[in-house]
Amino acid sequence: MGKPNGHDGLSGELQVELEKLEELFTVNTEKLKQITKRFQEELEEGLQENGKNIAMYVTWVLGFPTGKEKGEFLTVDLGGTNLRICWISLTGIKDETSVEQHQFKLSDDIKTADVSKLWSFIAGSLEKFVKEQELNSSKDKLLHLGFTFSYPAIQDYIDHAILQTWTKGFEISGVEGNDVASQLRSAMAKLELPVKLVAVVNDTTGAMIASAYNDPDTIIGAIFGTGCNAAYVDKVRNIPKLKNNKEISKLDPDTPMAINCEYGAFDNARRVLPITKYDSQIDEQSPKPGEQMFEKMSAGLYLGELFRLVIVDLHFRGLFLKDRDIAKLKKPYSIDTSILSTIEDDYSKDLSKTAEMFKKDYNVEFSKAELNFGRRLAQLIAIRGARMCACGIAAICQKQGITRGHVAADGSVANKHPQFKKRWADALGEILDWSEEDKKKKDLSGDDDEQVGPIILTSAEDGSGVGAAVIAAMTLERWKKGVD
Ligand code: BGC
Ligand code: MG
Repeated sequence: MGKPNGHDGLSGELQVELEKLEELFTVNTEKLKQITKRFQEELEEGLQENGKNIAMYVTWVLGFPTGKEKGEFLTVDLGGTNLRICWISLTGIKDETSVEQHQFKLSDDIKTADVSKLWSFIAGSLEKFVKEQELNSSKDKLLHLGFTFSYPAIQDYIDHAILQTWTKGFEISGVEGNDVASQLRSAMAKLELPVKLVAVVNDTTGAMIASAYNDPDTIIGAIFGTGCNAAYVDKVRNIPKLKNNKEISKLDPDTPMAINCEYGAFDNARRVLPITKYDSQIDEQSPKPGEQMFEKMSAGLYLGELFRLVIVDLHFRGLFLKDRDIAKLKKPYSIDTSILSTIEDDYSKDLSKTAEMFKKDYNVEFSKAELNFGRRLAQLIAIRGARMCACGIAAICQKQGITRGHVAADGSVANKHPQFKKRWADALGEILDWSEEDKKKKDLSGDDDEQVGPIILTSAEDGSGVGAAVIAAMTLERWKKGVD
């Protein structure tokens, strides 16, 4: 006789597995607080010196914009899936920024190409764009370029950035340890492009500055997308590792400086993260084992893969999709994170949409019980991710004594996952001990009516376009005054 069925028609064995997974993936309030405490320590440590965990890179973006910045700028963003080029006109008037843009698809082999192929692709795309848009320039009137480069890089100046390590699955040789600004400059020089690279910008800094250009309540820029990270602003006097930096010593110690945390690398030393065997598997099979541990548990590139690893594991143990051919599901990264949203968003009877999706895209038939199991698993993974994401922001707020404001957020997880914002906000309230009254506060004008609380997520304005342009404008202003 078979084992009795639990609820949702799960077999007894599968029911037991589900309970184990619930336990494994649930991060309770106490654990969230413990993670946040360590997070805050690592933020501090990163300001003392660049270590192996959170790096805390200075960006040379000296504070928030006034909103009056003006000018026309070319911007380029090397993202995980696209290369996006924009022509931005800043008028200094709220909501009157204009953006012309073109996306060039990054082929899979670019991600693993060599250095010359990468830069000639970028410079070539810029050349096409400049021609297509008929942008006027000459030898003495160069186009000013802001370059959004969303990888950990040390900046000694704003127009300089030494890539420390690729993240998000990139593996292009010949770039790590080098200045990406000078590599892009040489590629543009080969094509005689009339372009001057003014600023290299991390996407988090871009999101923060673009939002602050229109919204004075902006406190942090954060990306919850393929990768995860945040930027905020502090005074240079609070950055001990720059004490002997020649450029810094020229600045007033009260000068504000944007800091790119690079907190995807939080707890690479594995002291507090609730790492499961599936997280370890992702790490070991990645091109960079031991790096970006926090990102690997919470960012979009990995959530779908986590789901897949659990299912495949259960299948091999004879507990899930028994006697079915799961060839397609066996392929690493064959489950995109957007599928977790699809599953959670499926309100059809008996999860028939999800069933169809697995049948059509993976050629596997799920039983009703397996569909229910899959749905719960998708929730567990996404909830854990959102709750961990709250720790990073809570740590910055606690460290800075920030109690209210807007976190300008961008990225596919924040924008597309139906439950992310709510789960993130609940977790933030738990960590920061918000009272019931706090939670109901809506004293800031957010763009999302469902969000309440003293600290809320807002959709970041176009960081890699407008943000990079505003930063380039701020830089040109500063250069005019003779400050590097
Ligand atoms: C990168 C960061 C970036 C984040 C979000 C991480 O993998 O290291 O520089 O801000 O992804 O795109
Ligand atoms: Mg991006």
